[in-house]
Amino acid sequence: MDDNEILKDIRSCIDCKNCIEKCDTFIITKNEVQSPNGRLKIAESIFLNKKISENELISIYTCTLCAMCDLICAQNINISDIIHASKVRLVDNNIGPLKIHEKIIQGIIEKNNSVGGNPEERLNWLPKEYEKNELFEKKDSDTLLFFGCMSSFKVKESATKSYQILKEANFNFKILKKEPCCGEYIYSAGKLDVAKKIFKENIELFKRLGINNIIVTCGGCLYAFDSVYRKYFDDYDIRIRHIIDVIYELEKEGKIQLKPLNKSITYHDPCRLGRKYKNNSLIEKARLLLKKCILEINELSNEPQKCPCCGAGSGIRGVDSNLCIKIGKKLFDKMKTKEIVSSCPLCIFNFKYVNYKNQMDKGSKYILDYIVESMKK
Ligand code: SF4
Ligand code: SF4
Repeated sequence: MDDNEILKDIRSCIDCKNCIEKCDTFIITKNEVQSPNGRLKIAESIFLNKKISENELISIYTCTLCAMCDLICAQNINISDIIHASKVRLVDNNIGPLKIHEKIIQGIIEKNNSVGGNPEERLNWLPKEYEKNELFEKKDSDTLLFFGCMSSFKVKESATKSYQILKEANFNFKILKKEPCCGEYIYSAGKLDVAKKIFKENIELFKRLGINNIIVTCGGCLYAFDSVYRKYFDDYDIRIRHIIDVIYELEKEGKIQLKPLNKSITYHDPCRLGRKYKNNSLIEKARLLLKKCILEINELSNEPQKCPCCGAGSGIRGVDSNLCIKIGKKLFDKMKTKEIVSSCPLCIFNFKYVNYKNQMDKGSKYILDYIVESMKK
């Protein structure tokens, strides 16, 4: 979108304010500056090159880019895309991103991951029994299982279980010895030039390795590889799938068997899978899979597409950790079960953090934890 289109979109807002009560950052802060409507007004100032206040600057960076407002707006304004475009403009004008983003971006450039992990420990999740025979890039397969920074370093069970299930189903795939970062964090922070350089390097790497399919474990990687990369590279034609999609198919083909577990859980749709990802079949597939394993699945919303955000999207935790914790707590307060299950390791990581910070007793699991438990029963 060019500036005129963005300004036209912003000015199509009729100030009905229907969006503000659906935005977690407004619900928690009660500050209209931290609402979709308020952020559109800030975006207008940014695109008119007007000076914005410190509070307005922070408001742009406390948006989780959850895209809930996009679903609500009767004027069909792509609010979250406009907020992201505002971040890009702030970078162009040397106003953004914030110091915390710069620090994390520097970490990505130096260590190839967004969580400060030691690159030498990136494969620590790999089960010992598979280590000896793992061929990595040399494996004869055009399908890459890509784990992402969160699965590799912070929620390792999502990496281990994705790998184990595909191995047990005799699915042909390769993994990388030195996996790069997908670049979604840098893109979300608005550093488009740096993000595009990483996207290009990754596409070249995938081409060199003959990759035609990528399976991801994380909502952020899914959004980046499938929605964002395609915006900038016309010849990028790799098929991207979330691991849920692959396991759903393997189960249908009878390559894995699931048996019921006597459990009651709440299922959480990550924003990047449920709203930002245009093919939202994963909402249904995750539930169909879970129904084969779990006795009772509770919902956080009558409409799964409006499932609340975990509170951690778009680097908000580094900008305002209290706000992030309160958004997560608000979601926990809606739960009728002790355990929450999600298909994104970032959400799981945040749920554990929110639980710890609020001294609650909520458990959180990556969806494949139950798939493996059910397979083993
Ligand atoms: S719902 Fe849309 S039109 Fe109404 S205030 Fe929000 S952005 Fe403006
Ligand atoms: S994307 Fe989410 S956090 Fe950002 S303004 Fe919209 S509803 Fe609020």
